[in-house]
Amino acid sequence: MATVNRPVVPPRMPPREDLNPFHIAQLQFDMAAEYLKLENGVRAVLRTPKRVLEVSIPVEMDNGQTKIFTGYRVQHNVARGPAKGGIRYHPNVSLDEVKALAAWMTWKTATVNIPFGGAKGGVICDPKRMSKGELERMTRRYAFEILPLIGPASDIPAPDVYTDAQTMAWVMDTYSMIVGHAEPGVVTGKPVWLGGSEGRTDATGRGVFVIAEEACKLKKIPLRGATVAIQGFGNVGSVACRLFAERKAKIVAISDSRGGAYNARGIDPLRAHRYKDRTGTVVGMPGASRISNDELLALKCDVLVPAALENVITLANADQIKARVIVEAANGPTTPHADEVLHRKGVYVVPDILANAGGVTVSYFEWVQNQQGYAWTESEVNARLEAIMRRSFAEVAASSQKHRTHLRHGAYTLAVGRVAEATATRGLFP
Ligand code: NAD
Repeated sequence: MATVNRPVVPPRMPPREDLNPFHIAQLQFDMAAEYLKLENGVRAVLRTPKRVLEVSIPVEMDNGQTKIFTGYRVQHNVARGPAKGGIRYHPNVSLDEVKALAAWMTWKTATVNIPFGGAKGGVICDPKRMSKGELERMTRRYAFEILPLIGPASDIPAPDVYTDAQTMAWVMDTYSMIVGHAEPGVVTGKPVWLGGSEGRTDATGRGVFVIAEEACKLKKIPLRGATVAIQGFGNVGSVACRLFAERKAKIVAISDSRGGAYNARGIDPLRAHRYKDRTGTVVGMPGASRISNDELLALKCDVLVPAALENVITLANADQIKARVIVEAANGPTTPHADEVLHRKGVYVVPDILANAGGVTVSYFEWVQNQQGYAWTESEVNARLEAIMRRSFAEVAASSQKHRTHLRHGAYTLAVGRVAEATATRGLFP
């Protein structure tokens, strides 16, 4: 039976839903700032990014023509340590999206209490329509253009949507060639043989799974036999899928940008992987019926994992959600208005800034290993990751209980409080 919760009425919840990701990030911050009664000066500092860089990236395409791409790097906050955040390649990248993602990184690193700030980068492009050579030339020129901002002590990129370990290797090489020595610590998510960390590729999905385990424990849902639907069978979604299946949960649906696959008796992640490797999609895999992304989100299941893009659960479909628990593997999948609906319905939503923080946590381990010039074993990495995720879940749950509110608000109150304290203690320069 779903419990009915009191709505968290924020001080300035706009009457109409606004899907601009940066406005959403600011609204989420405002709610926490209001609750914490943050002093106006600190509030103004934390509400906007510290630095925004827009670059134009000329690339020679395979047909000999020069194409100009637009890229961004945004540093939201560095009060608690170097800026940290991924690089996204997608046709829908916009400055406001990158600003939102950078802010969410600040709150994420603070939620799991690692000594980083928040940043993000993005290039407006369609990587699926580019050759490997074009992607390499674009990545190297983008890395060169954002070089004044990045560095192991200042701002450390990592992979995000449609970027991977190879992308990071190109960024690391470009940076290293310019500074004159190999500098593995300038990026994380590199290949292991270039100073990457064991366990980094799986880290976000593993963290999502550990958090789902904690949430299910709290909600008294046994993982064995629990029904799970995963939107987005990419790096994060496919790893979480594998770990759920290893614990005998039943994966009833998975999807990608082209649509989804459904089987009430369960989907084998390994077979899904093989099929996707061969065809480029999970749609049409044998033994499963076709399902749309919208239908997947509305499935009756124990755990729903949005692991694709932002704004997939909005006022338009929040009422149709039948999952008992939502674990946000993607950044920003749920709007604040949808949050209120889900909270009232008794759906337990574990927010992105906690649920997907496993990636940046192991990125932090990678950076530490690069500083030490010493590599940890995979079991060491996984054990430390698990410990941080479980501790952070407990802290966020305690914060939300203390403030009698949902987990997102609990996480924001905790994270914004930590960053505000660091900002206030450091004081204003000059
Ligand atoms: P990815 O590129 O490996 O996978 C993205 C997946 O989403 C793909 O399966 C793609 O087909 C699917 N997708 C794209 N558009 C879609 C749409 N409109 N509807 C349904 N599915 C769609 O990316 P990823 O690294 O797995 O990242 C997924 C999400 O997790 C993003 O929101 C990202 O910001 C977040 N995240 C990633 C990391 C990380 O370490 N990679 C860390 C934290 C958060």
